[in-house]
Amino acid sequence: MTDVDVSLEEESMVYKTLLESTNAIPWRIHWDSLTFSYIGPQIEALLGWDPASWVGVQDWAERIHPEDREWAVNFCVAQSKAGVDHEADYRALCKDGSYVWIRDVVHVVRRDDGSVDALVGFMFDISERKRTEQRLIELQRELEALSFKDGLTGIANRRRFDAVFEEDWDNARRSGKPLSLLMLDIDYFKQYNDHYGHVQGDYCLKMVAKVLEKAVRRSHDFLARFGGEEFVLVLPETDAASARRVAERCQELIGQEWIPHERSMAGKALTMSIGVGTVVPTHGDERLAFLELVDRRLYQAKLRGRNRVAEAED
Ligand code: GH3
Ligand code: MG
Ligand code: MG
Repeated sequence: MTDVDVSLEEESMVYKTLLESTNAIPWRIHWDSLTFSYIGPQIEALLGWDPASWVGVQDWAERIHPEDREWAVNFCVAQSKAGVDHEADYRALCKDGSYVWIRDVVHVVRRDDGSVDALVGFMFDISERKRTEQRLIELQRELEALSFKDGLTGIANRRRFDAVFEEDWDNARRSGKPLSLLMLDIDYFKQYNDHYGHVQGDYCLKMVAKVLEKAVRRSHDFLARFGGEEFVLVLPETDAASARRVAERCQELIGQEWIPHERSMAGKALTMSIGVGTVVPTHGDERLAFLELVDRRLYQAKLRGRNRVAEAED
């Protein structure tokens, strides 16, 4: 052995020791035979599989979660064939049947003629990061549920409506003044989505919310998105005649906006049907019954041909 050989051997020992002392798991796949020519022994500590059991790429593929397998294998094969370095996150199967989130970072080694010689890479354990991500998603959902604002239109949401309506109901019961409620529903909105697409549908809902905001003039009047393509207006200290005028103003403003709706059977532009109710609450818990009454009127407006206001059920 020459001096040079000794130092080369020493050098490769240094690299091997370094590679095998990191948390990331190094590996190498010989491209022509699609077999592992190396995998770091740390793999056993992480997944439980003996390094000798990683023979061909099928051993890798079989140890990917069934839900991740198809895309991960297809993606990595396509990128490798194209000679592009890449990375993939997937769940790797442990010997005990559990799964660990892995980020596999892959470098494609090419020969001088450009053909693929080997793939080398590192597997990183990203379970902790995934757990944090998942927790963030859950927290965001909880926040949304606790929030009073509708995420799409920015106006008050159903949750806020429930609180405001209850408060206004109690105030009206105490003061003996009439409380009015409008329920507004876009006509043929399913057809709008089908024709213009959901993204445009969402945009349309935002426009409708903006238009309806203009119809709310008094500081105690309250607009909310009731759900889907339904909106609700609570008008304290408002009698039936005034409520009707507000409903007509809503229709006028929507009409002026002239939002094209080619598939509507109620006109060429977007229209809404509106149910209106006015009550002087007495006692007890008739609040929900009143809400149902206004909802039935909305249904009547639909039955009578849409693009109209219904104040009574007959
Ligand atoms: P009608 O005239 O009887 O009210 O008919 P419609 O098609 O408006 O009523 P329907 O209740 O059958 O359909 C409501 C549609 O509203 C179905 C749903 O896809 C759509 N929708 C509900 N929420 C959203 C949303 O947030 N965005 C979009 N783009 N569409 C929504
Ligand atoms: Mg509806
Ligand atoms: Mg509708």
